[in-house]
Amino acid sequence: MSEQTFRAMLVEEVAAGKYDQTIVARTTADLPANPVQVVVSHSSLNYKDALSAFGNRAVTREYPHTPGIDAAGSVIHDNSGTFRPGDKVLVTGYDFGMNTAGGLAERIAVPAEWVTPLPAGLTLRESMILGTAGLTAGLCVEKLLEAGATPEDGEVLVTGATGGVGSITVALLAKLGFRVAAVTGKLESADFLTALGAWKVLDRETLAPFASKAIAKPLWAWAVDTVGGETLFNVIKCLKYGGGVAACGMASGAQFQANVFPFILRGISLLGVDSVELPLAKKAEVWEKLAGDWYIGEQLQRIAEDISLEQAPEFLARLHRGHGIGRYVVDMN
Ligand code: NDP
Repeated sequence: MSEQTFRAMLVEEVAAGKYDQTIVARTTADLPANPVQVVVSHSSLNYKDALSAFGNRAVTREYPHTPGIDAAGSVIHDNSGTFRPGDKVLVTGYDFGMNTAGGLAERIAVPAEWVTPLPAGLTLRESMILGTAGLTAGLCVEKLLEAGATPEDGEVLVTGATGGVGSITVALLAKLGFRVAAVTGKLESADFLTALGAWKVLDRETLAPFASKAIAKPLWAWAVDTVGGETLFNVIKCLKYGGGVAACGMASGAQFQANVFPFILRGISLLGVDSVELPLAKKAEVWEKLAGDWYIGEQLQRIAEDISLEQAPEFLARLHRGHGIGRYVVDMN
């Protein structure tokens, strides 16, 4: 097959600890030697992409590198024989965009084991409004439902609510009939959260006083935490008897100090969520729900902002500072 040129973001270490993100021309010869080649129509920005773009070596070991843990598009060819040219597909997680060239590019080459057929009912763009964030939100909600959560139990707290995972979680829980208390550092975006279906919007600082307590007054039945760090344990301290928190993130930090009281006095469950190494069949199941019973329709449009590949560096910087709102969809067309 003849060599073709395409646009891609390239992150390079230009001085010790200083990383630049530029859009460059690459050729198909630069792609990794993986069987499924896809022409990308849409990608999206995630917090992990921001970490990769700004030199976090726990995410990306070697530079120059093309980040992007999400991509959707059409198969050009597949040497594994799994997909046919023209098949619409999406790719999220595994090593994609971490140490394998990722989705912030017009072309990608990936193993067939990383590729999910686009679920019927979703456009390529909608699949990237959701992306890893939507898959993770779906997994968090699924964890709560499996633990027995029902709307009658009381309010569900969602932290980092204006972020990608947070905003989709708010909309999905509201669609399922839950009363959502959305916690945010951006009170100026309260209208956005209310429009997504939040029952109430709380300032991030609401949780701060609980830091000095071993256990606090039970306020919420369930929670989804995208923030991690001390916030996660502050949330755990305030859950009602028998409740639980789906924990997926670390936007405020990876470490927290804990005690056993919420677990042994209230039977609280800490429910870990991973969307990256999850088996492909399980990912496909959640995608089918997101395209079916869990389709959040017009809320997807509210959550999305479309940007060009050239704008991606600027918006990744925003995510890196915790200033993102909703989901940024990179339109390659
Ligand atoms: P975003 O950048 O879109 O959202 C993160 C949000 O967290 C921000 O918008 C902000 O929301 C809040 N936040 C940021 N910094 C702080 C802080 N210092 N203290 C408290 N809150 C803060 O990220 P994503 O939605 O893409 O990802 C959210 C988290 O989930 C990340 O840590 C990411 O790594 C993780 N993740 C995990 C996955 C998994 O498989 N386990 C998959 C996908 C994401 P607000 O201003 O509203 O408070």
